[in-house]
Amino acid sequence: MAALQPVRGTHDLLPDEARRHRHVEEVARAIAERYGYGEISTPIFEFTEVFSRTLGDTSDVVTKEMYTFTDRGGEGITLRPEGTAGVARAFISGGLSQHLPLKLFYRGPMFRYERPQKGRLRQFHQVGIEFLGVDNPLADAEVIATGARIIEELGVRGTITCELNTLGDGESRDAYRAALVDYLSGHVGALSKDSVERLQRNPLRVLDSKDEGDKRIVADAPVMTDYLNERSRSYFQQVIDGLTALGVPYRLNPRLVRGLDYYCHTAFEFTTDALGAQGTVLAGGRYDGLIGQMGGPATPGIGWAAGVERLAMLLERPLTGPRPIAVIPGPDSVQGLALAERLRRAGLVVEFAFSGNMGKRMKRANKVGARVAVIMGEEEMARGAVAVRDLDSGAQEEVPLASLEGRLAGFR
Ligand code: ATP
Ligand code: MG
Repeated sequence: MAALQPVRGTHDLLPDEARRHRHVEEVARAIAERYGYGEISTPIFEFTEVFSRTLGDTSDVVTKEMYTFTDRGGEGITLRPEGTAGVARAFISGGLSQHLPLKLFYRGPMFRYERPQKGRLRQFHQVGIEFLGVDNPLADAEVIATGARIIEELGVRGTITCELNTLGDGESRDAYRAALVDYLSGHVGALSKDSVERLQRNPLRVLDSKDEGDKRIVADAPVMTDYLNERSRSYFQQVIDGLTALGVPYRLNPRLVRGLDYYCHTAFEFTTDALGAQGTVLAGGRYDGLIGQMGGPATPGIGWAAGVERLAMLLERPLTGPRPIAVIPGPDSVQGLALAERLRRAGLVVEFAFSGNMGKRMKRANKVGARVAVIMGEEEMARGAVAVRDLDSGAQEEVPLASLEGRLAGFR
């Protein structure tokens, strides 16, 4: 029955996977905190204009991927496809320009109607940061370093590369756009239908095309770096010097773009060779024009977002929860559950099986990876004690009930 299947492109997180996700989010939050970021949580839906105005009506996200609906009050609503637009909206509607500079961290689900594949879902999760109010190349370097440190701290498989480019300021981008349009116009016949359309409306996006034919044409296209004015060149050099000073390796990639008008200067992506086509784990850039374009006070900003699923898939170490203590009751289960409760209230992680004889319950204790078993043997209980068995070594000792918590604290 279709209704009992998860919706295509959605995914249940069972405990092991949920633990990996939580780990990615917690490491990201902790590292971001070190760099001065506080958490912001915006709604998962917004008025559709919040996204259509900021992402532009030529972006893939807006033209093909949004979950948009009319609510019961007739409002056009969209499930957020990304985090920056909502943060910018919150900045404006909350009057946060009084509090600049502002460093915000966010996490949570995003929604895009895409063709599901490994590492590409319709409901996925991102962590991200936005640094508002500072227009300084060293801030760009710090924002990129924050992403690099998070990935480093997580410990991921494969080789991660930070690809870096600049889009320059408005003047440089206009000069480049003209050169690009000139070049691409000579190849319209060979461009994909999508790219012919992009050429009309937003030519920079052609550089981002995933079509193989387009990629061959793009390979010989003029590069942005040749069209930078002095100010933009110097800005980029300072970003590079900053990254070098912070010890963040990077690779220049002149084809890396963000197609939207409000993007400027720094653009970057962290990619891995370990995830096939879905190799981008973190992407971001400077967006000095965004908040002004949305109708807020002109405010520079830079940020990035990272895919939690993709990072979780790359985690090197298996993550395990704390190993429990198994309480194995004698004939009196109530007494057993009460002892488990006492230990839990003391902060210990306790496994208690509700049925089965002692042998079965010991089996269960081993199955859940318990570190020790607290066995409420009749003889020991008569002496006001229990048997504590180290399940790794098999060693067993008698411990008075009165000092049980203290003894258990000694197990790691
Ligand atoms: P892609 O080129 O892979 O479609 P994108 O440019 O659309 O990525 P961004 O909007 O920059 O991606 O989002 C930042 C990050 O969020 C991506 O690098 C990726 O790790 C993750 N991400 C984006 N879309 C999805 C998705 N549908 N499923 C899982 N993760 C995603
Ligand atoms: Mg995409």
